[in-house]
Amino acid sequence: MYITQLTIQIRRQPPSPTPKRDALQSLPGSGSVRVEIVTNTGVTGVGEAGFGRIAGAPDALAALIEHELKPLILGQDPAFVRGLHQAMLAETEYHGSQGLATFGIAALDTALWDCLGRANGIPCWQLWGGIHRRVPAYAMVGWLNYDDGEVQAICRQAVDQGFRAVKIKVGFPTLQQDIQRVEVVRRAVGDAIGIMVDANQSLTAAEAVGRGRAFESLGCVWWEEPIPADDIDGYAELARALDIPIATGENLYSAADFARFLRRDAVDIVQPDLRRVGGPTALLQIGSMAAAFRRPYASHGGGPVQLNVMACLPNALYLETGLIPPDSPLRLEEGTVQIPDGPGFSWA
Ligand SMILES: [Mg+2]
Repeated sequence: MYITQLTIQIRRQPPSPTPKRDALQSLPGSGSVRVEIVTNTGVTGVGEAGFGRIAGAPDALAALIEHELKPLILGQDPAFVRGLHQAMLAETEYHGSQGLATFGIAALDTALWDCLGRANGIPCWQLWGGIHRRVPAYAMVGWLNYDDGEVQAICRQAVDQGFRAVKIKVGFPTLQQDIQRVEVVRRAVGDAIGIMVDANQSLTAAEAVGRGRAFESLGCVWWEEPIPADDIDGYAELARALDIPIATGENLYSAADFARFLRRDAVDIVQPDLRRVGGPTALLQIGSMAAAFRRPYASHGGGPVQLNVMACLPNALYLETGLIPPDSPLRLEEGTVQIPDGPGFSWA
């Protein structure tokens, strides 16, 4: 089997008039790039990379895939997906295999695995060897721009859907405001529901220790990205100083980045992002490495690729998702969601 065609499709999305906001940035959304590979046997595979912001990002990514990555993929056998992953990293090394490059590598790596699964008529988790049929999921719903009433309503809605944990944004100007936000949500969801807090890199290490102690005493599940993502010394200090688990990784770019954090005991829960680490090949590597360090894996973002990966990880802790829309194939049962059963990364 070899790849005869690769199509690249830009999906533009007008900016939302009411963008969500966290402590770092506003997220109006700006579209995505979808790739599809076609093989000589007629089997296809699809992958996609989306952007929460930066209006020109989809066009820039499409150009990078067209000019740099596509020539490496055409004519190749998808069965050599790990080899192609290495080739894409090597090709982009000159300008940096991080940032936009990993978004493109992720889309193609996803399409290659999807194609392999479809060629064999089985889900990717079966190609890799599974452990779980279902994994716990939490709802990331508590955006920073919501007022108290709004955040209570949406968190209650998540609980009504069957979630047993919700995540809220913190990193308000003062500690008192952060405490108040957790208390407001606690009143809405009750004592049995887990609450994760996420400051999106907005604090100094000293401030993050103080707020972490407060979140600890409020019984929060984890303390996410309190300080800049690359501050490994700061994260090591926080993990030492606090009992609440420190979760980070959505802004790290490679298995080597995660290796440095794990070696330094600078992370308690790893949270790799499909696009930033460069696709399922890298997610599997990071998940297995974290398992060897006995650290849980929580996805950054949801979707069928993360679910297929988590099905194979002994340390799978939580899938991140939003409220489940009526047309979604996801079904919550006792706070868990099912692993997709369709070929490749498809649902059915
Ligand atoms: Mg986060």
